[in-house]
Amino acid sequence: MSGASAGMPYLPVSLRLQSEPVLVAGGGRVAARKVDLLRRSGARVTIVAPQLDGELQKLVASGELQHIAAPFQEPHLAGAVLVVAATHCDEVNAAIAAAARRQRIPVNVVDDAAASTFIFPAIIDRSPLIVAVSSNGEAPVLARRIREQFEALLPARLGALARFMGARRRSVQRALSFAARRAFWERVAGGTVGTRVLAGDETGAARAFARELRTSHLTSSPATGESGLGECYLIGAGPGDPDLLTVRALQLLQQADVILYDRLVSPGILERARRDAQRLYVGKHAGSHTSQEHINELLVRYARQGLRVARLKGGDPYIFGRGGEEADVLARAGIPFLVVPGITAALGAAASAGIPLTHRRLAQSVTFVTGHSVDQDTLDWCSLAGAHRTTVFYMGMGELPRIIEKLRAAGASRTLPAAVIERATLPDQRVVHGTLDTIAGLARKAAISPPALLIIGEVTAVLHADELAGSEDSLVDGALA
Ligand code: SAH
Repeated sequence: MSGASAGMPYLPVSLRLQSEPVLVAGGGRVAARKVDLLRRSGARVTIVAPQLDGELQKLVASGELQHIAAPFQEPHLAGAVLVVAATHCDEVNAAIAAAARRQRIPVNVVDDAAASTFIFPAIIDRSPLIVAVSSNGEAPVLARRIREQFEALLPARLGALARFMGARRRSVQRALSFAARRAFWERVAGGTVGTRVLAGDETGAARAFARELRTSHLTSSPATGESGLGECYLIGAGPGDPDLLTVRALQLLQQADVILYDRLVSPGILERARRDAQRLYVGKHAGSHTSQEHINELLVRYARQGLRVARLKGGDPYIFGRGGEEADVLARAGIPFLVVPGITAALGAAASAGIPLTHRRLAQSVTFVTGHSVDQDTLDWCSLAGAHRTTVFYMGMGELPRIIEKLRAAGASRTLPAAVIERATLPDQRVVHGTLDTIAGLARKAAISPPALLIIGEVTAVLHADELAGSEDSLVDGALA
């Protein structure tokens, strides 16, 4: 030892244990967890304990685990490359640790860093990619919490991406100079190829990879080279609460160079995008077709500049969001795109206003309807007015009285429960409860304005019977207040 002070008390290393003998002492649940971990790394595990828990017994019975049915004794260490002391008894664990140290075999005493010569980090397993987090035994709970945060952050298919890249290392080594390789791999991991693999589209990824390799001599900067490898993400931003973004939406927002967003996308959501991304507001008003064309044009233009374009839309892109049209435009222009689903307003509102959209007894189906179609013949009002179903009207505030009128004319009961939810999932959300008879008046009185949803059906009353029984004034509640 050089005697340098230990700023880092343990050195994190990755041990190759494939077929190596490892000894675990202890037959309970803690030992079983370690056995599982060691077996995942291919170790040949022997367990020493007078008795074993059921789980371990099964492994022994199936021949996957060697068992020495006795209390630990020093000779059991013979040949082991690693030892884990996981018995219930501190003295026994201490004796195992002392014996292992004498024989210079690395030893871990569960929950006792001081007695251990090695410790297990908390791990995030995206094999072949592994992230290990350690507090060097000082605060395992903290390490575990960080692990949870990483679990949420790291795409589930990261391992697939590592394998994809690993499988192509050789060919890239042959094709590109050392200097060019790093920038190339950066583009692969952070660009179209990476996005495709992480979304489960390996075929598309392989195609994009081949294209990237062909054009690699043209590009110099990682994201925005001349190669024209731009792409577009149609991302559902959910109903407003930033925590309701999906993990994939968040990841792509961190990658996008340009973000085109709607009126319904809350500032809290934009804050979670990449700091230096260009943000463009493209909110439009009902029925304005020119601006939709303009949006389509922008999507294509930016992508053709080689940029990664996020088209961020409220709720889900394919529910009353014209996502279908945008996808069509991109497909025709030959621009690769991904659609990332979002939590549509109805689902957000239902959860935050306590309205189960279906219910075993009260509603066996739910229908999403756009309020803009009130006067078209395409809606079957008789069926919407029927019992045992829930109907959610989007964009219906301007047409509230007409919607009610149509439902009544189709035979719906005037006492059918209904609710209006304004700015669902946002801190200033408001909910108005009533019946077909009263809901339009109550919403007007409360000055409800868009964005708001109208939900009709027995389910709107199931958890709110007391509010309905109260005075009119109690019918408006700031649900999150
Ligand atoms: N694609 C979106 C819907 C766009 S249409 C989605 O899947 O949610 C716009 C309509 O959605 C609004 O008029 C309103 O009826 C509804 N809406 C969107 N966000 C809402 C919110 N936070 N609260 C209530 N209604 C909302």
